[in-house]
Amino acid sequence: MTAERFDKPFTQQEPIPEAGIEAALGVLRHGRLHRYNTLGDEVGEVAALEVEFAAFTGARYCLAVASGGYALGCALRALGIGPGDRVLTNGFTLAPVPGAIASVGAVPVFVEVDEGLAIDLDDLAAKAGQGAKALMLSHMRGHICDMDRLMAICNGASLPVIEDCAHTMGGAWAGVPSGRHGVMGCYSTQTYKHLNSGEGGLIVSDDADLMARAILLSGSYMLYPRHRAAPPPEAFEAARWVTPNVSGRMDNLRAAILRPQLADMPAQIARWNRLYRRIEAGLAETPGLRLVSRPDKESIVGSSFQFLLPGWRADAVQALVARCQGRGVELKWFGAAEPVAFTSRHDSWRYAPPQSLPETDRILAGLIDMRLPLTFDEADAALIARIIRAEAEVLFQGGVA
Ligand SMILES: *Cc1c(COP(=O)(O)O)cnc(C)c1O
Repeated sequence: MTAERFDKPFTQQEPIPEAGIEAALGVLRHGRLHRYNTLGDEVGEVAALEVEFAAFTGARYCLAVASGGYALGCALRALGIGPGDRVLTNGFTLAPVPGAIASVGAVPVFVEVDEGLAIDLDDLAAKAGQGAKALMLSHMRGHICDMDRLMAICNGASLPVIEDCAHTMGGAWAGVPSGRHGVMGCYSTQTYKHLNSGEGGLIVSDDADLMARAILLSGSYMLYPRHRAAPPPEAFEAARWVTPNVSGRMDNLRAAILRPQLADMPAQIARWNRLYRRIEAGLAETPGLRLVSRPDKESIVGSSFQFLLPGWRADAVQALVARCQGRGVELKWFGAAEPVAFTSRHDSWRYAPPQSLPETDRILAGLIDMRLPLTFDEADAALIARIIRAEAEVLFQGGVA
């Protein structure tokens, strides 16, 4: 019997829904792409998106911006974080997170990851009292930590929490949407995330002062009364004189593409989770391979899948990645010494002071990651799991430690 192969690309998203294409054409035809270019009482696509995303998350206020990374930097600036300030963040995340901290001249201080791939709350508790100005919490790869305990630790240390929800848009902890636990929640609408406008970002908050500053920072000039999910004009009174314009607005074309996708999110989440659970079931009890358990309080969006190869030698992990690649299954390894494509780790971010993270290093050494685009179906997910399982069994029986 010839070995099964998988032949779909792991980076192919679904097309933009027809309603999004139609709305985009409407914007192109009237030509008013700038968010503040509106006629009379017209509510532009960006302002409408902000209202809809605020409702989706249950937030009082929402601001759409140019990218997820911009959203993170904007949140830090709105909080008044600046040069030399220490900002805690996950030791396991993607480059835009420490990058946003460095963009305001602040210093990233990394917190260890735990076996659930979430932030290690004991390490956070130890580091929270050491003079940091904020926690930028990355729900990396969709893994949400015990948010009740995290907020107790951070509130106890008067540490404001900015949530990086690039991988948890639509997820929740104990029924509270991801992005709604901290003072600000930041999301990305870049192509590989849960909504796709090529590039884009969103910020939500209930804090009127912070949101007024974020809106001014994003480049609203004095046109903020045209927003529909913003604090009242009084909230801008003091800030409008002293808040620099760091332009990073979203435009009406992207917002037009996003609105129909947002309306589809609940159905898309259900599809992602069916793929995720198929892979999980297909890999259960594979010798040498450990699955990441998902807490009952966590509502997941299974847009990617992770598993651990505890104690495997580096060459054995690389062999698994290569053998799966040979059968069309694209795995990413977070333990590689050199940053590759989107994947890098804390010791690759050399603008930050070097830090000792033994737990994170140990876990990342055996961490495998895989995207699950919605162009895959459940039969694809089952096939992918069979391929990984077969290759892991061959290597494990041959000795990997
Ligand atoms: C993609 C991503 C971001 C930044 O989003 P962009 O829109 O690409 O700037 C931030 N954090 C994480 C974890 C991401 O994966």
